[in-house]
Amino acid sequence: MLEVNRIKKGLSGSSKLCYNNHMNGCIFCKIIAGELPSNKLYEDDEMLAFLDINPVAPVHFLVIPKKHINNMLELEAGDAALVGRMFHKAQELAKQQGCEERGGRFVINAKSDGLQSVDHLHIHFLGGRALGWPPG
Ligand code: 5GP
Ligand code: ZN
Repeated sequence: MLEVNRIKKGLSGSSKLCYNNHMNGCIFCKIIAGELPSNKLYEDDEMLAFLDINPVAPVHFLVIPKKHINNMLELEAGDAALVGRMFHKAQELAKQQGCEERGGRFVINAKSDGLQSVDHLHIHFLGGRALGWPPG
């Protein structure tokens, strides 16, 4: 269930308003809202990129939409261009992180068979080492 909240960033009495599709209990929505820290690589009005807290490759970052979307199976047609822009940003960041020549992997895990552990759509970029295939 998508809940569009107009939440008040009021932890220290600030009156700054945060307009976000905040999903209660979603850790990535909390990162977007600034309620949890992250090592940000990029941010604009519609997406955020940050380092994965538990990297599985020398370069491992995530690109997430600010809009809460559960997973790729629930992506709506109107969000397709947003996901396209997220992939393009992931490409730019992968280049910035030194992975242009050797590449890496742009991955979206989805639901239980995909071992998605955070139910807020995210692109992983993995690089900096040779990766195995097929995935386990
Ligand atoms: P999934 O398994 O859903 O495809 O990927 C979720 C990713 O989010 C995992 O790689 C995990 O390490 C990362 N992650 C989970 N919690 C946090 C967090 O609080 N901060 C950051 N930066 N990454 C997180
Ligand atoms: Zn969320």
